[in-house]
Amino acid sequence: MTVQSNIYPTKALQEMDAAHHLHPFSDMKALNQEGSRIITSATGVWLTDSDGNRIMDGMAGLWCVQVGHGRTEIADAVHKQMVELSYYNTFFKTTHPPAIELSRKLAELAPPHINRVFYCSSGSEANDTVFRMVRYYWDQMGKPDKKVIISRWNGYHGSTLAGTSLGGMKAMHAQGDLPVPGVHHINQPYWFGEGGDMSPDEFGLHAARELEKAIDEIGENKVAAFIAEPIQGAGGVIIPPDTYWPEVQRILKERDILFVADEVICGFGRLGRWFGSDYYGIEPDLMPIAKGLTSGYLPMGGVLVSDRVAEGVVGKGGDFNHGYTYSGHPACAAAALANLAIIEREGLVERVANDIGPYLKERWLKLADHPLVGEARMTGLVGALELVPDKADRHKRFKDVGVPGLLCRDISFENGLVMRAVRDSMIISPPLVLSHEEADFLVATAEKTLNDTYRILK
Ligand code: PLP
Repeated sequence: MTVQSNIYPTKALQEMDAAHHLHPFSDMKALNQEGSRIITSATGVWLTDSDGNRIMDGMAGLWCVQVGHGRTEIADAVHKQMVELSYYNTFFKTTHPPAIELSRKLAELAPPHINRVFYCSSGSEANDTVFRMVRYYWDQMGKPDKKVIISRWNGYHGSTLAGTSLGGMKAMHAQGDLPVPGVHHINQPYWFGEGGDMSPDEFGLHAARELEKAIDEIGENKVAAFIAEPIQGAGGVIIPPDTYWPEVQRILKERDILFVADEVICGFGRLGRWFGSDYYGIEPDLMPIAKGLTSGYLPMGGVLVSDRVAEGVVGKGGDFNHGYTYSGHPACAAAALANLAIIEREGLVERVANDIGPYLKERWLKLADHPLVGEARMTGLVGALELVPDKADRHKRFKDVGVPGLLCRDISFENGLVMRAVRDSMIISPPLVLSHEEADFLVATAEKTLNDTYRILK
């Protein structure tokens, strides 16, 4: 039986949902009482729900729908591929044309020292692959003691065991006794929240040097890799101070440690370059990717692998005993190729750098004047507003941290805009096809939402 939103009223759908569907990252008890929001269709940057409301998708789904919703070109490419070859695997020295073509394309788009890709179905699986690949690499290089991966508190790298462990979300660690051994967390470069009285530039250096300190304490001979998002997404769109990445790169260049840039959010144009690493001029050895690779049309992830790591993994011979049934799935690869073709043909990466990015940023940053906003920040098409109780005091937070953020998120939805709340930061990450008029709507609705929230909080 197909459950069709046009024949079932919203309430009936919500009851079925509550009875049978356990949602990710949701308070199921509250959800069952309130009923889930049911999205039934979408085109461009607009969602429609089961009551016929039109809502702007200010988050591009979960930071992934770069080319906007409803692109029949991608659906057609997937259909054609499914008719031709719906599935075959890439284990045991087999492959198929879509995986070959996509690998070549990704090598072309990636920085010059990166020419290979290992496929999976999500960002979490990509980071599980990273976890195993860096350890395998060092074993192959005759340095089996190099096992520890350094990552950052409040980073997000997925929700599998390795993803959760590499991530620095304490609420996730608390469920299931994580992280697994061999992961060491350092502080994040979150100036607004943790910069104290340092200037952003001073704090950027300070945060980077925590990496140096950690390596010295653990011992370079025991550290396998450092993993970080170029801009932390789920942590609250933490845009590091300008001094941070050059200093991290210096520290890693001086030491024999792999650099993993998690590009799951920043990749595929989000920052106005193909990858966040291009934007910041950093040179990672591995880049986990997902989300924007297919614009979310089908699930696909991967790890882009530098020549240095490939030499260790490939050049020494022997199996890397790792892989997924759906590694390089032909229909997903076809979706990725069609998606990348749209991004290129429509110049979406350049559009973020030179057109819609600066247009939205100029207007978004003006929201910093609102009495509820302590800081507005944006890079490319990803931004945040820090809600604060006292605009004059950067260090002051709401007593009930997170509650004002959730209130603001719900009001925003009612006003017709999806924003995400992280603690008391309001986050946007819209599709890269956002028009100027749509950007105006986004900012006007965010402002109305701030006014409505402020009135209630006052
Ligand atoms: N890495 C980063 C930086 C992410 O933002 C996410 C998801 O938001 C992941 C990894 C995990 O990706 P997935 O949800 O596809 O497993």
